Amino acid sequence: MSTQFLEMPDKDGFFGEYGGQIIPPELKAIMDDINDSYEKVSQTEAFQTELQNLYADYVGRPSPIYFARRLTERQGGARIFLKREDLNHTGAHKINHCLGEALLAKHMGKTKVLAETGAGQHGVALATACALIGIECEIHMGEIDIAKEHPNVTKMKILGCKLVTVTRGTRTLKDAVDSAFEEYLKDPAHFFYAIGSVVGPHPFPKMVRDFQSVVGKEARGQFLAKEGKLPDYLMACVGGGSNAIGLFTAFLGDEDVKMIGVEPAGLGLDTPDHAATLTLGTKGALHGFKCYNLQDNEGNPLPVYSIASGLDYPGVGPQHCYLKDIERVRYESVDDQECLDAFMILSRLEGIIPALESAHAVAYAMKLAKTLPSDQTILINMSGRGDKDADFVAERLSL
Ligand SMILES: *Cc1c(COP(=O)(O)O)cnc(C)c1O
Repeated sequence: MSTQFLEMPDKDGFFGEYGGQIIPPELKAIMDDINDSYEKVSQTEAFQTELQNLYADYVGRPSPIYFARRLTERQGGARIFLKREDLNHTGAHKINHCLGEALLAKHMGKTKVLAETGAGQHGVALATACALIGIECEIHMGEIDIAKEHPNVTKMKILGCKLVTVTRGTRTLKDAVDSAFEEYLKDPAHFFYAIGSVVGPHPFPKMVRDFQSVVGKEARGQFLAKEGKLPDYLMACVGGGSNAIGLFTAFLGDEDVKMIGVEPAGLGLDTPDHAATLTLGTKGALHGFKCYNLQDNEGNPLPVYSIASGLDYPGVGPQHCYLKDIERVRYESVDDQECLDAFMILSRLEGIIPALESAHAVAYAMKLAKTLPSDQTILINMSGRGDKDADFVAERLSL
């Protein structure tokens, strides 16, 4: 296999035909400026040292790799390991790229970091990073989501970010994006729009990937030290795709390491209620870049659904689209019920309550493990912990 693709994206932000900058010229100048600053600043020793120190002393990196013995025994077959991003400060992988973005904004002399949030996970991680780094933070969130996601809303307030309630339109994520973006366009030279996954216009898919790639870099060394060889399979859930690409990147050149991204099949792939973008999507433009997406005949994004709110995005990172086409990564899906089952099984066999997002990867690993011989290994990116989902699951299962 050719490994030329390891150098991606190209200078215009393309991964094959995906990615790029589908944005107005004024904004292209701003994005190019962010790219130039990123290329310069991120290479300096000062920036790298600051970020690495924060990863170590603030986030708690490196996160461990844990052999899930009881889960493995239950399934039979391949041995299952977890990369414990759930043990990070704030409980998920998102802090890795939020710290990187907030630090870059500060180095660029920006005065305010802006973002939208749906379930509040991106909002809390970003508000945390901005509190630490000492830069103003403004989060836009739909009125309906604010009512639903009480603990995250409270956290954002305590962390000192400005929370803007979006009361127009659907009063959910879609309109929060528009609202935050309008605010950003008032002064893009001084504001920084912090995108929450490997999506959006160039350079965000590249930058967020680079910040997340610490996960795979650590995992590769840790796994070799533990097992004396690389894992046979990597597995991660895919919403926008940041935790998956974070784990995969360091292994892309290792031809024998197979990789599987797991998408949410929701209520079923034969219903409208899923978010299996790579499995069922078609090519098109969304939020400033080209990717597979779930769209209607006019190219408008379809409403999508998953039991895991961090996975219900109608598009997906451009690098994943490319990796699918060249068949370097396989994309599969699991539905809500399989996710819930995996959530409970991991909790009761290992004492680890996973985020519903991460439980998708666990569910697929459980299915796959049974079909493999016992000398094979699967490494799952445990992208986050399930504290945020505990009440919902308990109610849903009448516990
Ligand atoms: C946001 C989130 C995800 C989905 O985002 P990706 O960019 O696809 O990684 C997955 N897991 C957790 C715990 C999250 O908070």
